[in-house]
Amino acid sequence: MRPKKTPMRMCTGCGQMKPKKELVRVVRAPQKEGEQGQVPPPEISLDLTGKKPGRGAYLCRDAQCLQLARKARRLERAFSCKIPEEVYDRMEEEIRAAQEAAQPPQAPPEIVIEEEPLGKGGA
Ligand SMILES: [Zn+2]
Repeated sequence: MRPKKTPMRMCTGCGQMKPKKELVRVVRAPQKEGEQGQVPPPEISLDLTGKKPGRGAYLCRDAQCLQLARKARRLERAFSCKIPEEVYDRMEEEIRAAQEAAQPPQAPPEIVIEEEPLGKGGA
């Protein structure tokens, strides 16, 4: 059995390399030609389907990583544009929703029963 090669991407928040499918893509939509030479504000959004066109950056499916990227302004640097606060807020909500969908809160905690060797004296 040969292991499948997984494409790896770096999270813009924590900087860790992770398999692409474990990350969520943040995409900046291709800039449309503005009327009368006006440059429209860039459209930044989460791409949960991985199919949106445009320039992308990757984040863990974790609101914490988005917050890290937001604080360090790494997404702004990646896209070389300003990102309005409300865009961050919306992305954070979306990422939280995706997180909850991926990990149902009712999942029982994993219980590990450790078997202790018997017949050994203490102290
Ligand atoms: Zn991360």
